[in-house]
Amino acid sequence: MIDLNDQEILIDGGEKSSGVTSYISSYVDGPLEAVIATHPHSDHIGGLISVLNSFDVLNIWTNGDSTNSQTYSEFMSAIQSEHANTYVVRRGDKINVGGLSFTVLNPDTLNGTTNNNSIVLSLSYGDIDFLFTGDAEKEAEASMLVSSVVPVPDVEILKVGHHGSRTASSHDFLAATSPEVAIYMAGKGNSYGHPHEETITALNGIGAEIYGTDVHGTIVVATDGEAYTLQLEKQAPPYSPSVISPTPEPSTPVEGAAIGKSAPNFQFNNAHEQPVSLADFRGKPILLNFWATWCSPCRAELPYIQKVYDKWSEYGLVVLAVNMGESPSKVEEFMKSHNFSFPVLLDSKRSLADKYNIRYIPTTYFIDDNGVIKHIKIGAFSGVAEIEDMINNILP
Ligand SMILES: [Zn+2]
Repeated sequence: MIDLNDQEILIDGGEKSSGVTSYISSYVDGPLEAVIATHPHSDHIGGLISVLNSFDVLNIWTNGDSTNSQTYSEFMSAIQSEHANTYVVRRGDKINVGGLSFTVLNPDTLNGTTNNNSIVLSLSYGDIDFLFTGDAEKEAEASMLVSSVVPVPDVEILKVGHHGSRTASSHDFLAATSPEVAIYMAGKGNSYGHPHEETITALNGIGAEIYGTDVHGTIVVATDGEAYTLQLEKQAPPYSPSVISPTPEPSTPVEGAAIGKSAPNFQFNNAHEQPVSLADFRGKPILLNFWATWCSPCRAELPYIQKVYDKWSEYGLVVLAVNMGESPSKVEEFMKSHNFSFPVLLDSKRSLADKYNIRYIPTTYFIDDNGVIKHIKIGAFSGVAEIEDMINNILP
């Protein structure tokens, strides 16, 4: 689902259930402006039946393809009784909803398989580009790559084709889209073995950070058009080939910026200009937050960090807020104007951010009294309670 102010657009709805309806109900203001069904397989249109029955849907886009399943006929009757504007799209068309404009890259014709006839859409919001691929497989990818009608865009965020199957995500298509973040949808323990290891390896090979609904739950990308943050329902590091074949945990965890590893050590000067290192805090739980004054989600959560600092320092919690790349005077002025008193480290050359693989801010590491990373929160906290939940797991 894409939500911009009071405009909401839903692309596909999963298998037949009311799950999507209940999830999107807290986002939909008034009518649901647009429903897009990428192709008529039950794991894409099934959940749309309940959506059509529950919301006033204004516009519906499909690729015009059909199947002879029971779910498909129920979907078509739900469309009939909706009295929405319905459209069939082809390569080169635009789907305009509110302030957003989607470009249709696929299908060109309905000559492919049901999957390869999927509607594929690109969306740009400011500098941030998205590609939604439905279940398009390598044949559709090849057809998009040679098309002169719409170029395949270089994107920040890719919805990985066909649930991470090896039948999609060809080398050339991944090279052309070169996403920073790749997100696939797959059920935990699904019988297809999605995502396939070949896909994970290929995405890893082009340097994409990989997130999947089986590992991370619901995944939200928030953007202001300049930067973006990821909000994960389940906190876990990005999926990587090493996650697929985990090595047994050594008794003393090795250093690394990942859950279960020993937090990378570093030196800094304390408020009295004395050099200290992270390891000096062994025996105490640590909240290590990365932020900058220009980052609005950071600004939104820093008051919570301050409250946690005020309340939990007496229980031994160490709060360290790492400012990335800004001048001492700018940071000092910001801290003063907001009456913040938690300790700030200036990471002027971003070497510490590199050590902790910071790709998005805010990011917060929760390190236990043995120096082991227990949680990584990417994106802003919703409130003090969320931080306290995680602190409870690092208190000795
Ligand atoms: Zn599917």
